[in-house]
Amino acid sequence: MSETTQAKARLNEIQKEANALQKEATSSFEQLMAMAERAVEIAKLARKSRIRLETLNAEALYLSLSEGLEWNEVDTPESPPENLDRIWKSLRAELLPVTAQGDWLEKIRNLEKDRSEKPFLTPEEREALELRLKENVCPICVSFSLDGSCTLEAFETCPITHYLNRMVAIVEELGHRPWMEDYFERMYRDVCPGCSGRVDKNYCPPREDGECSLFTYLPSVIRTIEEFMKERDQAQSSSM
Ligand code: SF4
Ligand code: SF4
Repeated sequence: MSETTQAKARLNEIQKEANALQKEATSSFEQLMAMAERAVEIAKLARKSRIRLETLNAEALYLSLSEGLEWNEVDTPESPPENLDRIWKSLRAELLPVTAQGDWLEKIRNLEKDRSEKPFLTPEEREALELRLKENVCPICVSFSLDGSCTLEAFETCPITHYLNRMVAIVEELGHRPWMEDYFERMYRDVCPGCSGRVDKNYCPPREDGECSLFTYLPSVIRTIEEFMKERDQAQSSSM
């Protein structure tokens, strides 16, 4: 069995176990919340009884004193605070955020480090990707003219091409995300600070004027890079 097949089988096992554990943990929390709410209700009832008992004791004491009668006070139970503190501390400790055991996080960090050090694209791959982006994005771009040329004036080089390496790195680092917001955030964080288009942190005239093709067509850019990288990875693994 190849390593990929083994990994796939293991991922299936993990998926099943993880789903069952998620259900179990959710149900435990639900039970815990129901029990905690019940505990509050019981504590309220106990408080009510204790207040009534104290009141009766006071009334009885008054009668016994005023009429010279005997009265044996009935003690009001007090919950021992040290017990409550101990239980509360244990509960808090069990509810703290959890982390994975073993060296998985270390392995993930090492994997990411290896990936970030490896060049993402060879010159040939970059050329092929640029061509793919031209086919997918230029025809929908406002700077694309009918004769197929680019009329963009705000930049010497199209921002998609200029920041292509960084965008490929972002796609590789983030993996597939269902929300475009994640890619926009990474673009604002990793690309925009070094770009001449931006006037200050919150104001970028080319972006406002629709002249930053990278910003305007980011969904198509990301989709194209994702598809390209996927095809490249498949071609690489089938040639091994
Ligand atoms: S600005 Fe970029 S995306 Fe738009 S037409 Fe020119 S090269 Fe194509
Ligand atoms: S949004 Fe503005 S700062 Fe960011 S890449 Fe486009 S032009 Fe540059």
